[in-house]
Amino acid sequence: MKINVDLKDLLSAVDVPAQWVGIREVYEAHTPRMIRDGVPVANSRTSTHGVMVEVLVDGQFGYYGTPDMTAVGVSSAAQRAYQQAKIASRNSIYSFDESARPKYCGNYKSPFSKDRNSLSAGNLNEILLQAYNNLKISDKIVSASSLCQIIESSFKFVSSNGSDIMQDFLMLEFDLSATAVDGTNQQTRTFGGMRGTCRQMGLEFFDKYEIMANANRIGEQALELLHAEDCPTGEMDIVIAPDQMMLQIHESIGHALEVDRILGDERNYAGWSFVKLEDFGSLQYGSELMNITFDPTLESEFASYAYDDGGLKATKEYLIKEGLLVRGLGGKESQIRSGLEGVANFRSSGWNRAPIDRMANINLEPGDSSFNELIEQVQNGVYMESNKSWSIDDYRNKFQFGCEYGKLIENGKLTKTVKNPNYRGISTPFWNSLKGVGNFDTYGIYGTPNCGKGEPNQVIRVGHASPACLFNNVQVFGGV
Ligand SMILES: [Zn+2]
Repeated sequence: MKINVDLKDLLSAVDVPAQWVGIREVYEAHTPRMIRDGVPVANSRTSTHGVMVEVLVDGQFGYYGTPDMTAVGVSSAAQRAYQQAKIASRNSIYSFDESARPKYCGNYKSPFSKDRNSLSAGNLNEILLQAYNNLKISDKIVSASSLCQIIESSFKFVSSNGSDIMQDFLMLEFDLSATAVDGTNQQTRTFGGMRGTCRQMGLEFFDKYEIMANANRIGEQALELLHAEDCPTGEMDIVIAPDQMMLQIHESIGHALEVDRILGDERNYAGWSFVKLEDFGSLQYGSELMNITFDPTLESEFASYAYDDGGLKATKEYLIKEGLLVRGLGGKESQIRSGLEGVANFRSSGWNRAPIDRMANINLEPGDSSFNELIEQVQNGVYMESNKSWSIDDYRNKFQFGCEYGKLIENGKLTKTVKNPNYRGISTPFWNSLKGVGNFDTYGIYGTPNCGKGEPNQVIRVGHASPACLFNNVQVFGGV
């Protein structure tokens, strides 16, 4: 049961001589439901609730998180945040002032038409069990699962310079998976690649996504892959489906453009970036067909919001326009430190973490080719769907990705199914080989709850939307 907290009362309980004080309250509840191999394995509800007290002292921000949301608890947290800022200011890398926390007031609520109680636990288990039965179409499907997690989250933020923000989120994570085995050959198909499908919406999700038809297709494709030839090896054209494009965008654009990472903050843990500060405005990251946006406004995408956790208003911005790198993923602090324009992406994973530069929704804008027009341009190539494996160096440069499902493209037509389709490349040459971008009919909206970064670690939700895309002359190979 969520308790009600008056954040403005708590703000007045802070009695340290800070230049600025902010309090962020975060409540989050998770309700997972899962059927594995015909048996319910998860039906629970967990929640977490607390506040992060932030103070600005001698140009340095100090933080202290606490689940004790009384005046005494917050006053004590503020004292600790003050001490931390005082000590850290002796070694600060930049001396900030209040301009790092501009005043904003407003509200946000996830758009949805069916709330979380519109399907009972029993109804949801029935849907998941029926989906499981649609996945398990043969004895050769040795394992199958269906899962749904409902997430409710509420972020509130008030500050001594008058910010007052309330944001309420309703989200769903959904996945289906079928693993088929024949001898030593094992193949898995899923609903949206290994990270599932994640959306910010209500339980109308189950009306829209033809769950049972998709479960049948996934089961059939897992079996189909058992008899498929291995993906060919060589340099050829590839057409990539949105559920693999999402990871391509995440790993070879999103992480590379995090400004705190470019500044070196993350090199001890998450890594650095091949992108340098002087590349903004001059680096031709990809072909002229490439338009990448930071878009917190796309309805139902996983990481849509109106304000980041520094209270900055979130707007849609181009990061890469017609292939040219124009803007980084830097929140207000990174913008001040780097002198670059940025976006409202200063985000924390919960009440007990300080915000850092994160992805939110990072999307590839649609082009004007139909799916058939992309395929027709290929004489000899492979179409690939759904991520299975990934690897990228810690400068976000050399990568290798594996997909679940492929089809040969011969003389402009999709032909045989192939298993174990993989490709490799280097970030900017790869994106410069982008030769076709699909239209809205090819567009898919995906997301993941599992983006990790920061010390202490923060696992955060991100969204990625993309059309299907054609890349020329890519190194393709088969095998596991
Ligand atoms: Zn990530």
